[in-house]
Amino acid sequence: MSLLEARPAVLTGAAAGIRPALATPLATPLVDARSQLSDAVALLGYPEGLHALLATPRRELTVAVPLRRDDGSTRLFTGYRVQHNFSRGPAKGGLRYSPHVTLDEVRALAMWMTWKCALLDVPYGGAKGGVTIDPREFSLPELERVTRRYTSEILPIIGPEKDIPAPDIGTDERTMAWMMDTYSVNVGYTVPGIVTGKPISLGGSHGRASATSRGVTHVALAALRHRRITPYGATAAVQGFGKVGHDAAVFLADAGVRVIAVSDQYGAVYNERGIDFAGLDAHVAATGRVVGFAGADPLDGDALLELDVDLLVPAAVEGVLHAGNAARVTARVIVEGANGPTSPAADRIFAANGQLVVPDILANAGGVLVSYFEWVQGNQAYWWNAAEVEQKLEERMLAAWQQVVETAASRDLSLRAAATVLAVERVAEAHLLRGLYP
Ligand code: GLU
Repeated sequence: MSLLEARPAVLTGAAAGIRPALATPLATPLVDARSQLSDAVALLGYPEGLHALLATPRRELTVAVPLRRDDGSTRLFTGYRVQHNFSRGPAKGGLRYSPHVTLDEVRALAMWMTWKCALLDVPYGGAKGGVTIDPREFSLPELERVTRRYTSEILPIIGPEKDIPAPDIGTDERTMAWMMDTYSVNVGYTVPGIVTGKPISLGGSHGRASATSRGVTHVALAALRHRRITPYGATAAVQGFGKVGHDAAVFLADAGVRVIAVSDQYGAVYNERGIDFAGLDAHVAATGRVVGFAGADPLDGDALLELDVDLLVPAAVEGVLHAGNAARVTARVIVEGANGPTSPAADRIFAANGQLVVPDILANAGGVLVSYFEWVQGNQAYWWNAAEVEQKLEERMLAAWQQVVETAASRDLSLRAAATVLAVERVAEAHLLRGLYP
């Protein structure tokens, strides 16, 4: 199947791994993100003015995104682009297509991007975008029109030196190709650096599509060893079978981890001996979901989070581990493939129970790291092969892991607090060195 015939992975439903948030109604990702920042600011002893600056996006844009449907009717969506910080470089972050997207969610995701880029020491600030559309309900030409209209609406605030979008839930490399083309047509010349996560034939990087999952796997294996659990034969459950969860589950299985359960938004499947991913992939290709796979037993999606496993990888959406279920989660190690899956209340329960949580801004940073590699390769017009990308990804992920572990040990902090403190310190230092204008 050629690229032009292929429907984006996002349209295959279950493969998208989109899952409604399970958090309690009052909890929002922004409340969680701000609470994590407050904890770091308290540890760093920053004054309130600096705290307010770090807690507040530098720029936000809300746009109406009208779509002419294939049948001639019109639908209206809302689009957002939030630029949380520019202190260390251009803003950077994905674009999410989901009917659940809200401005507060995008604000939280943008803030997490700032910390993630700083923690991995890539020269970017943080941003995030969203459109309130369920991509599974629309045709490819409709998605193309929505993407081009949204890109046109946010065009004044994006650019290769201003803010560089990338894929997130519900978007993929084809979305990035449309964004790049729309931006390029508007400015009058081709600008590959306007987005990352592009198709390889348009200047994308080898290894970008699976980068987040590879990074999750490197960090998960390191975390298991840190807890003196031998990865070979350790048990794991992965929530989400989309861009992050699918490949993470397969890479973990390749490393000898026994992945006994996976889920998508429709439900979970379980096999004590380990899931056969070749068989499951064929089933998902045919049915669009993991449930019904003959090689495993059905399992409730929420029950997956509570399985007695060595490793739990929440790789779907925010807020799935919260005060209401954390005490029943018994995984020894939790590695956040998703952004914001664990609420601060759940974090406290996991800490009290001696469970190790590897935070999102470290665990899933492989995606933006290879986005940065894509940008570097594009800038020098010289591309690395897949092995070179994978080697650099592994080196940088494990170096960041090591730094976070050492900071946590020396300052007696959780991995999340250590990672956030390291990141916030770098952003604050850049901000203070630049000074306020005027
Ligand atoms: N959407 C991804 C994330 O949440 C990647 C963003 C990027 O590559 O800019 O980290």
